[in-house]
Amino acid sequence: MDIPSIFQRAYYTAPILVQNVLFSALCAAQDRKRYSHHYKEKFDWLLETEWWDKDRIKAYQIQKTNEIIKHASRNVPFYKELYGLHGISSRQIQNLTELKDFPIISKENARASMQEMYALTASRKTITTRTSGTTGSPLVIKHSPDSLAFQWALWWRHRHRFGWQRGERFLTVGARVPVHSAQVAPPYWREDILANRTYLSSYHLGERQLPAIIKMLTRKKFPFITGYPSSIAQIAAFMLDNNISLPVAPRLVSTGSDALDANSKRLISEAFKCHVTDQYGMAEFCGNLSSCPQGHYHLDFECCHLEIENGRMIFTGFANPVMPFIRYDIGDAAKSDLITKPCTCGRHSPYILGFDGRSEDYITLRDGRNIMGLNQVLEYAVGVQAIQIVQNDIGSIDVMIVPAHDYNEASTKSALSFEFEKRLGVNAIDINYHLVPSVEKTPSGKIKAVINNIEA
Ligand SMILES: [Zn+2]
Repeated sequence: MDIPSIFQRAYYTAPILVQNVLFSALCAAQDRKRYSHHYKEKFDWLLETEWWDKDRIKAYQIQKTNEIIKHASRNVPFYKELYGLHGISSRQIQNLTELKDFPIISKENARASMQEMYALTASRKTITTRTSGTTGSPLVIKHSPDSLAFQWALWWRHRHRFGWQRGERFLTVGARVPVHSAQVAPPYWREDILANRTYLSSYHLGERQLPAIIKMLTRKKFPFITGYPSSIAQIAAFMLDNNISLPVAPRLVSTGSDALDANSKRLISEAFKCHVTDQYGMAEFCGNLSSCPQGHYHLDFECCHLEIENGRMIFTGFANPVMPFIRYDIGDAAKSDLITKPCTCGRHSPYILGFDGRSEDYITLRDGRNIMGLNQVLEYAVGVQAIQIVQNDIGSIDVMIVPAHDYNEASTKSALSFEFEKRLGVNAIDINYHLVPSVEKTPSGKIKAVINNIEA
């Protein structure tokens, strides 16, 4: 839960106790949308469907794919026009391989046609979120109330696989900023009282802050920890370097929203002495994959169909009629093909072995701190077609902006500068803005939000 800009000043200057109450209230307002009456129904259903057999999974996916194609070609201007051009407006499939006849949508297509991607039938009760920004091109995503509950039910099903029930006490390590960057004394965390959660800012994990954080972990004995793998790995590395272990090990560390690489996984399991699991999701909610105890990423087929073409993941989402994504190239790569033989965990849903090329880079400040998750700052840029942070030397970063038609230089710069300052502090780094015709892409065509050229 980010602090809304209208009362940031009041929030950050309030005593910590008051901040905890305000932060809890903000989180509770957000949780009311996530855990609406749709949530319980979906969650119970998902506990059943995860044991469906292969035939039932396939029949369900074909039915749902046909439903979303039919809905999109009638009610979503973008697909109406696109499928009309391809002469497939009334096409229904008998087999999932027939989806190949439908065009692939790229992130750039979606960004350029965003307004046409919202269903005309959407009610006024839609919920707006932004893309994770990992590709550098911000997208405004609209959810139906039940699709947001569906997504959270999937995420809690993943946790439930490892014995974690909603309501149990946990720690989140995340890139939202309930703690101001200028704060130089602990606590670097805030309490989300109603959710039984402590929220630790991933911007306060420097050598100077970590001893206080370890003390807090020792005192609070969290049974469950979740958050950015790179941030949790940073805590783990510090613990291992200083020969620290917690008196009571957590029962589980569950990561997401940034790639869990083998090195981070090893650091976390060694330092925290517990199982580490991971899940993959996205703001567009056109797909989701969740690890099983074997460490295989099972497709959460209840919400999507996944095709893998030369490593690239192409999702068709069933769960959000307000903004459907059909054959959407998410820009991330899978480490394996989709494996369809049953997993030893007993689930019949297909799975992959992991991901390639999804890790977010960090930037390095003058005081040596490595800052992750700055892709979140880029979400605040409006009127841009693509945006990227490039760091070539320690004292500065370059923000490369490909302007869209509605770009406004003054408002974009002031929004970004405000967000950078909030996270990094005043004058922590020089920020240079550049308008460019295009930003750098990886060989697979992905736009990385942050490129750090310092070590190279
Ligand atoms: Zn499995």
